[in-house]
Amino acid sequence: MVTPSYSITCLRKTLLAPNVYELVFERPKGFTFKAGQFVLFDVPVLSNPTDLQPRAYSLASTPDEPDLLFIVKLKEGGRFSVWLEQQIEVGSSLTIKGPFGFFTLRQNTNDCLFVATGAGIAPFRGHILDALKYGNTRTMHLFFGVRNEDDLFWTKTFKELKASHSNLHLHLCLSRASPDWKGKRGRVQDFIPEVIKDPHATDLYVCGAPEMVNDIKKTALEIWSIPKGNVHGEGYV
Ligand SMILES: Cc1cc2nc3c(=O)[nH]c(=O)nc-3n(C[C@H](O)[C@H](O)[C@H](O)COP(=O)(O)OP(=O)(O)OC[C@H]3O[C@@H](n4cnc5c(N)ncnc54)[C@H](O)[C@@H]3O)c2cc1C
Repeated sequence: MVTPSYSITCLRKTLLAPNVYELVFERPKGFTFKAGQFVLFDVPVLSNPTDLQPRAYSLASTPDEPDLLFIVKLKEGGRFSVWLEQQIEVGSSLTIKGPFGFFTLRQNTNDCLFVATGAGIAPFRGHILDALKYGNTRTMHLFFGVRNEDDLFWTKTFKELKASHSNLHLHLCLSRASPDWKGKRGRVQDFIPEVIKDPHATDLYVCGAPEMVNDIKKTALEIWSIPKGNVHGEGYV
C-alpha cells in the first residue's frame, strides 16, 4: 500500500534552546496517527528544490491535538537543518508522508520509564499527554537528559502535568550543569535503577542519540534485568 503524502502549513517556528526548534503545523485533513509515530518530510536541497530526500521526525503532538508538533535538533550542514534555518517560515508549505513506526505505548499496567536525551523527548510528550488524558494511572517516570540548563525545554509543561498527576515523575539530568543547579547531575542511566521496582513489570522506552539508545537498551537487558519484550528504542540516526 502506498503511504499517503500530505501538504502541511507552518503555523509557528520557535527556537526553544540552542540548536533546537519547535515547529507547529496545521494538521491536514485525514491525517491520523498514534502517539510516538514519526513522519518523513520531503526535504529539498536549497540549490535545487526538485532534488528531494526524506528526513524522519517524531510527532510530538497527541492524536487529539489540532496541530502537528515537532522538535528539530539542528545538524551542522544537514539538509533539513539548513532548509529550516534559512527558508522555513510561518506560512511555508511542506510535504510529509506517514505516519510510520511502532514506538507506541504498550497498553498494560506496567510502570513506564521514558528516557530521552535532547530532541528524543519529542515522542514522549505525545505518549504522556495521551495516556494522562485518558485517565491512565500507571506509574510513569520521564528522564530528560541534556548538557546544561540552557538546553532544557518543555520543563514547564511537564512540571505542570506532574503537579496535577501524582503518577508522573520528572527527572531532569544535566551532564554539565552550572554550580547553581539543584537537580540531578550526570547521565540519565545513572538514575534509572533507583526507580525500577520490579523489572518484569516495567516497560522501558528510550529515544535520542543512537549510541545512548543502544547503551541503555543493553544495560536494561543485562544489568537491570528488564525483559527484552519490555524494552523499546528509537535511535535518531
Ligand atoms: C524514526 C526517527 C525519528 C526521528 N525524529 C527526530 C526528531 O523528532 N527530532 C530530531 O531532531 N531528529 C529526529 N530524528 C533524526 C533526524 O532524522 C536526523 O538527525 C536527520 O538526519 C537530520 O536531518 P538533516 O537533513 O538536518 O541532516 P543530514 O543531511 O541528514 O545530515 C546529518 C549530519 O551529517 C552530515 N553529513 C551529511 N552528509 C554527509 C556526508 N556525505 N559526509 C559527511 N557528513 C555528512 C551533515 O553535515 C550533518 O551534520 C529522527 C530519526 C529517526 C530515524
